[in-house]
Amino acid sequence: MTQAPAKPAARPLLEVNDLKKHFPIRSGFLSGISGYVYAVDGVSFSINRGETLSLVGESGCGKSTVGRTVLRLIEPTAGQVLLDGERIDDLPARRLRPLRRRMQVVFQDPFSSLNPRLKVRDILAEPITNFGLATSKGELDDRLADLMDKVRLPRDAMNRFPHEFSGGQRQRIGIARALAPGSDLIICDEAVSALDVSVKAQIVNLLSDLQDELGVSLLFISHDLAIVEHITHRVAVMYLGKIVEIADKKTLFAAPKHPYTEALLSAVPVPDPTTKRNRIILKGDVPSPIRPPSGCRFHTRCPHAFDRCKVEEPTLKVVAPGQFAACHLHDPAVQPVARAA
Ligand code: SF4
Repeated sequence: MTQAPAKPAARPLLEVNDLKKHFPIRSGFLSGISGYVYAVDGVSFSINRGETLSLVGESGCGKSTVGRTVLRLIEPTAGQVLLDGERIDDLPARRLRPLRRRMQVVFQDPFSSLNPRLKVRDILAEPITNFGLATSKGELDDRLADLMDKVRLPRDAMNRFPHEFSGGQRQRIGIARALAPGSDLIICDEAVSALDVSVKAQIVNLLSDLQDELGVSLLFISHDLAIVEHITHRVAVMYLGKIVEIADKKTLFAAPKHPYTEALLSAVPVPDPTTKRNRIILKGDVPSPIRPPSGCRFHTRCPHAFDRCKVEEPTLKVVAPGQFAACHLHDPAVQPVARAA
């Protein structure tokens, strides 16, 4: 019996290849460029349909810049961004516009990201009418009512202004606005960081439910691994403009392979108070992205650094099924030497 040919793997919804964003530094109004801030320096990842990938790292590691560059709110310096197989990093504004409908963002601050002069109804109607998604007032009303139901807000709240809501309710409005044009990908940029702990959990649960219901993909940008654990399928850890480890959530939380991920995870509180976790305190501050360290960018703070780390930059390599890390410790040729260092 002949076997049916294997189905080709579905293409990821979002592919990011070797993305770079270098901000020029000018010392005066008329002076030339005196250097660059290497905010994002060669980042690659993909997100499947209905999947959540979390981008984590300390503040200033470049994770928000990745989100903004993917959205083309800022222009990339180099690299490729593909949505559904189509390159969007070099599309002219006119051709990018219809694709913007499919990628939306929820920002950290629900207070400043909603226009205070507009009622919720107008805030939500704007993307629907801008993209011509309702042909009549009745259809628009139905869509608005459906959005309020989806984010679990009462329909009559549409007639109120943003300042009449709590922080968590405003973030629900932000999510409704992101869903309004029927988006496929939502970039949540520290979307729950400004909220109280209990409200954070409610918003994370809402995002999970919406993903199950609608199949949207999420790029969840956060510095908080404890929150990430509740929502994500995979995690990419960033340090000084680069991804240093990427793996599915279970593997990464159970057996991190990069010393920086180990340090970040050691700071996450464990739910069982009888379980002790050895906290790894990293020495020094995050170096400047204007002059990143040579070799492995983490070598100035890494408790396992050895000579090679100062001169040779490690690349992301498979270290376990579905797990990639950029660290010389996982090179079989140097491992015994490194362990002894
Ligand atoms: Fe540490 Fe070296 Fe691995 Fe970098 S390459 S994380 S400095 S051991």
